[in-house]
Amino acid sequence: MEKGIVYLIGAGPGDAGLLTRRAYDVLQTADVVLYDSLVGDAILSLIPEGCRKIAVGKRAGNHLLPQEETNVLLLREALDGNRVVRLKGGDPFLFGRGGEELELLAENQVAFEVIPGVTSAIAVPAYNGIPVTHRDWASSVHIITAHRRAGKTEPIDYKALVKMGGTFVFLMGVRALPEICAGLLAAGMPAETSAAVLERGTTAAQRRVTATVQTLPEACEKARIGMPAIIVVGEVCRLSEEFAWAEKRPLAGEKILLMRPRHLIREFAGRLREKGAEVLEVPLIETRMIEPNPQLEAAFDSVSQYQWIVFTSPSGVRLFFEALAAHRQDLRSLMHCRIAVIGEGSRRELEKHGFIADFMPETYTGEALGRELCVYLQNRIGERQAEQEDKRTGAENADRAGNLRILIPRAKEGNPELVSCLKEFAVEDLPLYETVPLDSGILNLKELVQKGEITTAVFTSASMVRSFVRQMEGTELTGVRAACIGKQTAAAAEAAGMQIFIAEQAKLESLEKLILEMHTTHEHIERPL
Ligand code: SAH
Repeated sequence: MEKGIVYLIGAGPGDAGLLTRRAYDVLQTADVVLYDSLVGDAILSLIPEGCRKIAVGKRAGNHLLPQEETNVLLLREALDGNRVVRLKGGDPFLFGRGGEELELLAENQVAFEVIPGVTSAIAVPAYNGIPVTHRDWASSVHIITAHRRAGKTEPIDYKALVKMGGTFVFLMGVRALPEICAGLLAAGMPAETSAAVLERGTTAAQRRVTATVQTLPEACEKARIGMPAIIVVGEVCRLSEEFAWAEKRPLAGEKILLMRPRHLIREFAGRLREKGAEVLEVPLIETRMIEPNPQLEAAFDSVSQYQWIVFTSPSGVRLFFEALAAHRQDLRSLMHCRIAVIGEGSRRELEKHGFIADFMPETYTGEALGRELCVYLQNRIGERQAEQEDKRTGAENADRAGNLRILIPRAKEGNPELVSCLKEFAVEDLPLYETVPLDSGILNLKELVQKGEITTAVFTSASMVRSFVRQMEGTELTGVRAACIGKQTAAAAEAAGMQIFIAEQAKLESLEKLILEMHTTHEHIERPL
């Protein structure tokens, strides 16, 4: 069997935007990913569903896979012919044991590539407004590990450090913080030297404690600083007061859960990230075409009989045109049709397929679409009848409501009110696709919800609420703030015990506005100290 290849990849410190493009591209083609405890949730949520995922770090709930076992696992997966990704926090060669993981591969002539990552040592200070060097304050930066290898004590030479000067960044050092500060002071560092501890940098939970080398341990204890965190010692820490920017973004501190099918999440996730939110992309539902679908085939065969087609979702539009093409028909077979859409998203999707919508309701709900379309069609029929009477052709020949054929290709579990509003016309409700629940995969959503880490969950349909609740298996949901599109969705979320917030309109702009409003009323988000 042909050997596979191992990509040793740095995932950066947590923010999904700090994953390099090369890392992202390679991840999309991986057969298996071995990931570390430090890799951010937002990045884990980008790993494609189809790929196997193995936790090899100390992620909560999993026991630690010893380094030797990880090395052997990497080798075995590669020898099996896989494209293997070894995903590590920050940069893989900076205190990441990346070098050790390559040794066995090299010995066995397994091909590998290293994709450097954005290191926490520089990016975490940057997200806290601390430049690690500065012409006026520090002309060198030293990155030091405070973690010693078992059995081998190589004490940090504080005297040498203090003599060199510059900025010191300590990784893996929170537990040893008092020892580090005492060491620096004993080596002659002025007690008022500025210093900071930066917790969970670049994520929604980012926190910062700034003090002096002398006061830092006590200040951190008071603030109950957790891990991971880095320690920065040097006058550049003072600059955070002026330069801190991350927490000033409109959605800073928000960790938002999006659960739509992947291709629908991307754009909205981008908008929220742009505003500073940490976004988890966890598709919990999938739209699946109903196959075989004889009713759809029959509709295509006699498509000339329909005067109107009504679309109730962007997925419906996309799947309808895909099926039409698969049926070897093109736009010409729909040239006589008028088309109604439920809202902006569907309208935009329709334009991608070359049609401009003839009708869109004021409010984007199935009920409003039915009601408003009904009035619109009645008026049109009335106008035609008047025209024909004018020409004295007789009212018998005029269009009658019952002759107007309307095709509604949509979800199997579609809103029944749409059809009942249009019942005076010849309506054909055509189930085109169904939504099926998916597993949350790599992320332990239950744990994230229990810990209160997710600040907002976005729901765009009642079936999404059901899928989410299923994943939660009886977890208390009163702490979940649900941003909903549609009354039915909100009703389902409320019934499950969540706090509900409803977007004014069923479109992404409205939802974004809602999330921004929710943020301003959100008091329990912890601000940097
Ligand atoms: N290779 C990694 C470092 C691995 S050592 C890198 O280049 O970033 C692990 C240490 O990195 C942690 O103990 C902590 O000190 C630091 N660290 C990693 N991610 C961090 C984050 N998001 N915020 C604060 N510290 C982080």
